[in-house]
Amino acid sequence: MKDVIIIGSGPAGLSAALYVLRAGFSVTVIGKDNGALERAESIENYFGLDHPLSGHELIETGKKQVANLGGEILRDEVVGIAWDGDYTVSTAHNKIQTRSIILTTGTSRKSAKIKNLDKLEGYGVSYCAICDAFLYRERDVAVLGNGEYALHEVSELLNIVGHVTLLTNGTEPMVEFPSEVDIITTPIDELTGEKSLESIRFSDGSTLETACLFVALGTAKGSDFARKLGIQLDDERIVVNEQMDTGLPGVFAAGDCIGGILQVSVAVGEGAKAALSCIRFLRS
Ligand SMILES: Cc1cc2nc3c(=O)[nH]c(=O)nc-3n(C[C@H](O)[C@H](O)[C@H](O)COP(=O)(O)OP(=O)(O)OC[C@H]3O[C@@H](n4cnc5c(N)ncnc54)[C@H](O)[C@@H]3O)c2cc1C
Repeated sequence: MKDVIIIGSGPAGLSAALYVLRAGFSVTVIGKDNGALERAESIENYFGLDHPLSGHELIETGKKQVANLGGEILRDEVVGIAWDGDYTVSTAHNKIQTRSIILTTGTSRKSAKIKNLDKLEGYGVSYCAICDAFLYRERDVAVLGNGEYALHEVSELLNIVGHVTLLTNGTEPMVEFPSEVDIITTPIDELTGEKSLESIRFSDGSTLETACLFVALGTAKGSDFARKLGIQLDDERIVVNEQMDTGLPGVFAAGDCIGGILQVSVAVGEGAKAALSCIRFLRS
């Protein structure tokens, strides 16, 4: 059992890890990559740099600092969080139990440009299998995605709904899906339905009638976890109070995933605040 799992190994997550470690608690930081900074060629507006550093160099230095204090950093993709008294964080390769969580997942710009997807959100388009599967029990549904996150959502659905079809929208599946799942790789043209989703039309003119389309594109975002845990969202931003507390006991959030000013200095400060709140929670 970990004291804290930090999801995200960007500036907010690594800054939070430093504080939690120095307070004597065990930390695992899980990040699927180096986050937004990996694409930043040169950082010149962060305190303490006598010459510009690339985003990659800054993050790698931060990771070393966390590792030097005994923090564990895993390169893995988190696909789900469950609560049963403690939290269980599921990754593509592991399940880890923890007393508390700090979400520092950054922002994601990954979305699908499919006609009527936004319009039918909440009317047959869902972003949360565990929340909505029961509404579609024993009915046929589809999942949009091709990776570990889509596999996780498919697994949630298989026990509850009728048949599941995976739609990869013109890409190839990146992981192996259960054999009972049909896979359609043809690009999607549009979703149709007046009041709610009725069918999906593909670029070759074929259609699939389905009760619900569960969207699980790319990697699960902080907002996906928040939605599943019942944490308040403002659009896709996780809502926190001044102490970076989401309102769910033991779950905090910081950095770009809560919106505001999307800068390293802000992410680092919020990461520290989230860590201090988390330390108070662990001690109480
Ligand atoms: C091109 C570019 C240039 C920039 N230049 C500057 C600059 O010069 N100065 C400045 O101050 N800011 C700059 N920024 C902004 C800055 O990078 C961000 O504000 C900052 O990185 C936010 O930190 P964060 O920790 O909140 O999120 P991020 O740094 O984005 O980190 C998010 C972390 O979450 C992980 N993650 C997300 N989902 C999952 C999941 N499901 N499972 C596991 N891990 C997950 C990611 O892998 C990553 O490790 C730039 C951004 C970009 C894109």
